Amino acid sequence: MPANYKAELVGVIGQPVAENPTGVMQEAAFAARGLNWRYLTMEVPPSRLAEAVAGARALGFRGFNVTIPHKVAVMQHLDGISPEARMIGAVNTVRREGDCFIGENTDGKGFLRGVRVNAGVDPKGKRVFLLGAGGAARAIATELALAGAAEIVVLNRTEARGAAMVEDLCKNTGVKASLVVWRGTHVIPEGFDLVVNATSVGLYPDVAAMPDVDLRRLAPGTLVCDAVFNPPETRLLRTARSLGLPVLDGLSMLVYQGVIGFEIWTGQSAPEAVMYEALQKALRD
Ligand code: NDP
Repeated sequence: MPANYKAELVGVIGQPVAENPTGVMQEAAFAARGLNWRYLTMEVPPSRLAEAVAGARALGFRGFNVTIPHKVAVMQHLDGISPEARMIGAVNTVRREGDCFIGENTDGKGFLRGVRVNAGVDPKGKRVFLLGAGGAARAIATELALAGAAEIVVLNRTEARGAAMVEDLCKNTGVKASLVVWRGTHVIPEGFDLVVNATSVGLYPDVAAMPDVDLRRLAPGTLVCDAVFNPPETRLLRTARSLGLPVLDGLSMLVYQGVIGFEIWTGQSAPEAVMYEALQKALRD
């Protein structure tokens, strides 16, 4: 067989991006599958986003992840957007089809896979209480709605942002959704099956922080989830656990969005356990 020294390229663009651990997980997956692929972590300021996408196209990138602050702005530089990413209004994964770049969003799909596989919960018919209305919240809410959730109540500090998200959610998915504006400690009422934190409260280095909610009225069995993955065990999850409630950490969402990305790019099944372990080790070190 003739030699082939040319690696296939993927990566992530964002700013700041140096601490993004996705590359560790994807490189471990490529090694485990014996693929000559590289995942590059690339710092790109907003003023150079258009050039970066054009450069990736010219360099033959097979795709790339997109993180803060480019998840919305990148859409105008792509050749197509998946229906789900369009509903969410943001792209976190780009795949190549011929010479075209297509935008996808795997954040909510990754969350959903974690709920199903790691927590053993089917969101169909469930009532969801969701904290936050940013990019992660939009992705999670959209996928939960598409998976048949019965109702989504959104709690957000900034009214305009929360209202815009709820309006889009109802219009795009037809789910029953409403907004509660967050003023001081919010006692989450009974009657919900899933509580999800999609705010950035509790994220490293502010690990002592917890979203200002009271979980004590939740019924036994209510699943409490956190999108924050660093640290994996947030104060919110510790509190839920101390009340005897089942929990799902943000690591599962991060791993599964990477698993889905790997499968989209390579067309092969992802070595999930290898990816999980690589990520856990990266966050521990
Ligand atoms: P955004 O900046 O888009 O949204 C942040 C949200 O947090 C907003 O709703 C904001 O409310 C709310 N918020 C921030 N500070 C507070 C506070 N002190 N009290 C109440 N609400 C607050 O961020 P993202 O949606 O992109 O990310 C949110 C979190 O999800 C981050 O921790 C991120 O790391 C995590 N994430 C995890 C992923 C995973 O794979 N596990 C993937 C993507 C994100 P307001 O509108 O009022 O400002």
